[in-house]
Amino acid sequence: MERVKYILIFIVALLLSVVSLKGVEHYLAKQVIIRDASILKDKFERLIKVSTESLNKLPNISLDSFECTDDVQKQLKETEFNASFIRWVGVTKGLNIFCESNEVKREMTGVRRHKISENYHLGVLESVEDKNLELVLIRSMGDIFYAASLIPLEPRFFVSIKCNHCFEYKITFDSSPYLSFGFESFDGDYYISETTQLTSSYFIANFELSGNKDFYNQYTYISWFMTFVIGCIIAMWITYLASFMFQYKQSIHNQLIQGIKHREFIPFYQPVVDSRTNKVVGCEVLMRWRLKDGDFMSPNQFIPYAEAKGLIVEMTEVLLEHVFNDIQQLGVKRDGLFFSINIVPEHLYSDELYQLLNSVVTTGRIKPHYISLEITERYPISDLVAARKSLDKFYALGIELKLDDAGTGYGGFSYVQNLGITTLKIDKMFIDTIGHQDNFNEKTIEAIISFAQKSGLNIIAEGVEKSEQVAYLSQYGVHLIQGYFYSKPLPAKQFFSHLRKHNFSNAF
Ligand code: C2E
Ligand code: CA
Ligand code: CA
Repeated sequence: MERVKYILIFIVALLLSVVSLKGVEHYLAKQVIIRDASILKDKFERLIKVSTESLNKLPNISLDSFECTDDVQKQLKETEFNASFIRWVGVTKGLNIFCESNEVKREMTGVRRHKISENYHLGVLESVEDKNLELVLIRSMGDIFYAASLIPLEPRFFVSIKCNHCFEYKITFDSSPYLSFGFESFDGDYYISETTQLTSSYFIANFELSGNKDFYNQYTYISWFMTFVIGCIIAMWITYLASFMFQYKQSIHNQLIQGIKHREFIPFYQPVVDSRTNKVVGCEVLMRWRLKDGDFMSPNQFIPYAEAKGLIVEMTEVLLEHVFNDIQQLGVKRDGLFFSINIVPEHLYSDELYQLLNSVVTTGRIKPHYISLEITERYPISDLVAARKSLDKFYALGIELKLDDAGTGYGGFSYVQNLGITTLKIDKMFIDTIGHQDNFNEKTIEAIISFAQKSGLNIIAEGVEKSEQVAYLSQYGVHLIQGYFYSKPLPAKQFFSHLRKHNFSNAF
């Protein structure tokens, strides 16, 4: 299934890459052709300007007095010779030629003109044989004109063309009277075409450039084979990135971050019961991860990672928000019932937990004696002085600290001496040994209890499952019991409803 998914991603990515590559290539080709259309416009403007200047140098004439003398002919020849874009100059009236720079035999059938400036027209001569119409610049002086036949602008004058008969242009004056001329070179439809406009007070001219497939191919540098190869490389990268992203999404880290965002870390409450009265004196708040499908993930599967990666601080905040809501919505009014929250040294180094609890306590949302903290002995606290400083702020709020998993880890006595601990929680590991004859741990449990009692600490026995264990602990003066013997950790509704119904007695 996974493989099929990645094959599909690869195919889609390949198709998209090929289409995109060709798209980019087409875009670039278009840009070049847009530039060429603009060059055509500039060239054309220059052609008209320079040619107008040449005709302007000729003397004014009138129809009544005009004679085609040798001098006039000489002037016309010189004009033709000196001008870059003029190949013939004549004195005309309509299609009648009175005088010309050189004799050109052609069968003219008509002339169409469009005014381009005060005294000038651009005209198109229609001849029988020439399908590329002849362009003339006409200077009018009443009924008589100087007409100059302009050298046609061949595409190669302004565009570099490597192909034959592949490119043409058309210049159209689309203001009345309509005029159109250009250079035709290939049969059939164009493959690519671009138009640029030039507007003056006398005319609007469109410069249209068109090329066939050969012309377009000049601008395509990547063959289909190369496109395919590059497409494959891009598609491989995309597939790799996609797999990376999927893995990341599935990674525990990202899931935890999402879990924080969606407030999926909720509390279960495990009662702590006084075995003398069978009444609940408090509870430990134990985190559960409520998954999207409604299942719960147990903390051993994600807490160690969250603690190692520093995510636990934010998760505890989410958890606490749920706890506060539960207490507010479902809680029972009873002083001294504690809610014990698991913390790690990191909670003491950062200020977030303190700020959260401070705001909850000072706004009166939760009574201070409802909250206590427990820190495990399993993790070392590197800076006891800094930790104590931080803890003093919690103590000032009336929040107390328990030492969890006592007897299993590092700090033991020094934690008790330095951190202001009020309660020891004896770990299940020691409780499990109760009743086993000649067990070394039985001696340890006695030592822990004795140490706690001498230090004036409260004691909670954790992981108590059997009545013999309760009886044994009772003998040693340990009455606060947390364990399956009384209850497993419970969801909020269950915990609070039992608490309410049974007047806090052993009813779990
Ligand atoms: P812990 O702090 O030592 O919590 C006690 C664990 O022992 C709980 O497991 C509880 O369900 C289990 N337990 C209590 N009584 C009995 C019993 O009689 N028999 C047995 N077999 N188990 C019992 P849980 O809830 O799975 O939590 C496991 C650990 O996850 C906790 O151990 C604690 O280290 C960590 N944890 C849970 N919630 C949090 C949290 O909010 N923050 C942090 N930092 N750690 C948490
Ligand atoms: Ca604990
Ligand atoms: Ca514990």
